[in-house]
Amino acid sequence: MLDRAQRVFDAPNSFQNFIAGRFVGAEHGDTIPRESPAHGKIVSYYPASTRTDAKAAITAARESFDAGTWAFSYGGDRARLLQEVARMIRRDADELALVEALETSKPFEAARGEILFSAELWDYAAGAARALHGDSLNTLGASMLGLVLREPIGVVGIITPWNYPFLILSERLPFALAAGCSAVVKPSEFTSGTALMLGRYLKDAGLPDGVCNILSGLGDPVGQTILDSHDVDMVAFTGSTRVGRAAIAASAGNIKKLSLELGGKSPSVVFADCDLDAAVDGVIKAATVNMGECCIAGSRLLVQASIADEFQNRIAQRLQQVQMGDPFDPASRIGAIINRAQFDRIAQMVRDGLASGARLVCGGEPGHNAGLFFPPTVLADVTPDMRVAREEIFGPVLSVMSFERLEDAIRLANDTEYGLAAYVWTNDLTKALSCSRRIRAGRVWVNAALEGYPELPLGGFKQSGNGRETGRYGIEEYTELKSVHLKVGEQTERWVEGA
Ligand code: NAD
Repeated sequence: MLDRAQRVFDAPNSFQNFIAGRFVGAEHGDTIPRESPAHGKIVSYYPASTRTDAKAAITAARESFDAGTWAFSYGGDRARLLQEVARMIRRDADELALVEALETSKPFEAARGEILFSAELWDYAAGAARALHGDSLNTLGASMLGLVLREPIGVVGIITPWNYPFLILSERLPFALAAGCSAVVKPSEFTSGTALMLGRYLKDAGLPDGVCNILSGLGDPVGQTILDSHDVDMVAFTGSTRVGRAAIAASAGNIKKLSLELGGKSPSVVFADCDLDAAVDGVIKAATVNMGECCIAGSRLLVQASIADEFQNRIAQRLQQVQMGDPFDPASRIGAIINRAQFDRIAQMVRDGLASGARLVCGGEPGHNAGLFFPPTVLADVTPDMRVAREEIFGPVLSVMSFERLEDAIRLANDTEYGLAAYVWTNDLTKALSCSRRIRAGRVWVNAALEGYPELPLGGFKQSGNGRETGRYGIEEYTELKSVHLKVGEQTERWVEGA
């Protein structure tokens, strides 16, 4: 794969927008260059779309939706198309993973796994397109039949972040299409390649022009135009809490629906009775997967006091074996951080933690020659008031706190404004169930970390967001309910007497 990466270094990929069924550059032909964070070489050019481009994409989506061709199509036909896209994704998995590994610096094998899992999501959504249905009420009396129709919500804007570019898009777009919606997709300006590649698959699979439009560009103007548009009925936004708040403000214009997947500060709760080897491995995985640039990263370790020292030391020892390096080295588990700004923020947060009294167990800010590679870092003696205990770091940094009793563990786990995920390690059913039921988070893993299934919904409590993606809930998110009151038989009652 390294030789194929080398070819991209020599001749970077150049992508186009997909608007109204056509492959086009940005209005003025401007592009955004993307460097591979691990190699410091340009690997991609994306169209630097303008407000005009965004409006053209929205208009195409609006017209296609209002024409009704896709919205009223047979679910079986939608399913076949989505399955065909899934097939193409699998066919091109290596190519998609190459682009993703180059643009994000995640290890190639991890990128490939995400692409293949994305194909599963397209397949699942295909099934959901056939299974989606409303309801009927035959209990309203002899002369009234109630129908509850599930209709596509309309034009959906999908704005995605840089950490799992194709996967996060695949948790949303196929479900919106399965529901009969039209879409405008805006990927992150750092990692737009695979989203733009998807346009070709949709076209070749036969999606009617304008039903899905994909364009790259900066958050403002492109994302902001989508948020502000009165022709967009819903926005599925995934990204920072800061931009999520801006989305809420912008949605007031036409009261559009929002589905928000925002930040997290998820706890790994480790009880003394757990399988320690499995827990050490799972806690490390949850904290360092995707370089910690993961919304559901287990970035807080809450460990029972009686095993805290031993557990922390075992984590530090095992982390020595986690290889950090070139995404195309099969041994690499950790690649480079997405960009200099994010790297500097991680370093700053570690410094802040140490200055406020945390103790460095391993890792820490690397020297100047390290490029954008940040080593897995464990901070012990963290207290709940420290920034490293409260704020999302989005890097491979684990903040360790300890607890005595189950009640303390749950209180600490919930002592956050976020609520995306939690990981619980115990062999005691009561503790496992108590944590699962009482920790306020959208996903809880018990004796496991990060294993995902298209069947299960994902999303956040509290300031981690609103709405749910994937599973049967994922398609319902993109629908509106309509009640039809259907009078049957002869009508004898009159509202105006004597009429
Ligand atoms: P970000 O909020 O900076 O950007 C996300 C997307 O929003 C990008 O496409 C960006 O161009 C766009 N955007 C920026 N400004 C905008 C504006 N004014 N109007 C409309 N769109 C705008 O986030 P990021 O740095 O790409 O990603 C990191 C963040 O995303 C982290 O906080 C992480 O927790 C979160 N995240 C959450 C999930 C989840 O499922 N909950 C998944 C991945 C990432």
